[in-house]
Amino acid sequence: MDSSKNNGRIMIIGAGGVATVAAHKCAQVPEVFKEIMVASRTLSKCESIKKDIKDRYGREIHIAQVDADNVPELTRLIESYRPFLVLNLALPYQDLHIMEACLATGVHYIDTANYEPPDEAHFEYSWQWAYNDRFREKGIMAVLGSGFDPGVTNVFAAYAQRHLFDEIHYLDILDCNAGDHGHPFATNFNPEINIREVTQTVRHWQEGRWLKTPPIIEDGSIHFSFDYPVVGKRESYLLYHEELESLVLNIKGLKRARFWMTFSENYLNHLKVLKNVGMTRIDEVDFEGTKIVPIKFLKALLPEPSSLGMRYKGKTVIGNVMTGIKDGRTITRYIYNVCDHEDAFRETGTQAIAYTTGVPAMIGAMMVFTGLWQGAGVFNIEQLEPDGFMDVLNRYGLPWQVVECPPLPDNF
Ligand code: NDP
Repeated sequence: MDSSKNNGRIMIIGAGGVATVAAHKCAQVPEVFKEIMVASRTLSKCESIKKDIKDRYGREIHIAQVDADNVPELTRLIESYRPFLVLNLALPYQDLHIMEACLATGVHYIDTANYEPPDEAHFEYSWQWAYNDRFREKGIMAVLGSGFDPGVTNVFAAYAQRHLFDEIHYLDILDCNAGDHGHPFATNFNPEINIREVTQTVRHWQEGRWLKTPPIIEDGSIHFSFDYPVVGKRESYLLYHEELESLVLNIKGLKRARFWMTFSENYLNHLKVLKNVGMTRIDEVDFEGTKIVPIKFLKALLPEPSSLGMRYKGKTVIGNVMTGIKDGRTITRYIYNVCDHEDAFRETGTQAIAYTTGVPAMIGAMMVFTGLWQGAGVFNIEQLEPDGFMDVLNRYGLPWQVVECPPLPDNF
């Protein structure tokens, strides 16, 4: 199909917490998203999104069952629905398959998490960046990482680079979930992906090199107490996060980039025990003659992240502290958003982690549908024009602020 023709149709793949929010948000903007399809592995989850959207907004959406790892099957579905853009809100394992189907059909692509092979707890952009030439030749866009982090945090950095600084030298991304879901242990997004991410060796970037430090649950992990707006002091742990990989290439003049995430002692204790007893293993083990992957079994036992919203109270505070030069002066600025779990649940039936990811996913799609983002090839979100995205964040549920703050220490 001719991808330059915007027919107002979006296809969302996945029907978890993030996809639910994105579908709701798209349904709220009928002037941009004239038709919506939610396609996922389990049809009943698509049906419940469809019903909720009908009840809340009176809009009919299309649904379909699809295995996104089956490229011919997905290609046929895309050919039959003919969307302008595919919003991939399934899991990182599906990224390359969905990109293949988009290439086969000439349809734009957006996701919120970079590719990760199922049998290796390792994620990086190289696999998706390798698609750049094919997307360019096909004349279509792939926008990588349009969630909150990656996503909004990248756009915050691009906006700061353009408007607040002549040069940014130090970038610290701080992700705080000060909410309480009332369960002894649960993860806020897909448990398998979440646990694989937080149990890995930590890396941050300094003067052109990646420095390694122990995982958050091991002795020697680096953490400090940051005084977050609205929610106060929270212990924040140095963690490797995927947006660092592209930001250190695209934000010019950086000397250091770090990512921090808050964890409660209770969460860390549970995770330590689960790791020590082997429940976070990603390889197959024999259980009474059947092969099982422990982390997949654990996922089946834990609460569905999309179900957490019902009891979730409190707020998330996510943003960037940046130190650099403006008009010859060294300044530090903090750009952040505060999102309330209960407000997110009232609006979309899901909690703030899904909300803060699903809203920017919709906004990324809106940027392409409205032509504010154009191009051919594979793009990280900070390579695209930030002002339109920043403006729409304020209007669609994720308002942000810029404040002065002291620079973060070099060492802890
Ligand atoms: P969920 O596990 O709740 O949902 C994933 C959905 O994808 C499920 O509906 C699942 O189907 C579906 N799916 C899985 N495999 C396939 C397949 N082969 N074909 C079709 N559908 C499939 O995850 P979340 O909603 O919590 O997260 C969605 C994405 O958002 C993830 O990639 C996650 O990493 C990312 N994320 C990004 C963040 C950011 O800030 N950038 C923050 C949080 C999440 P089924 O229902 O059958 O299991």
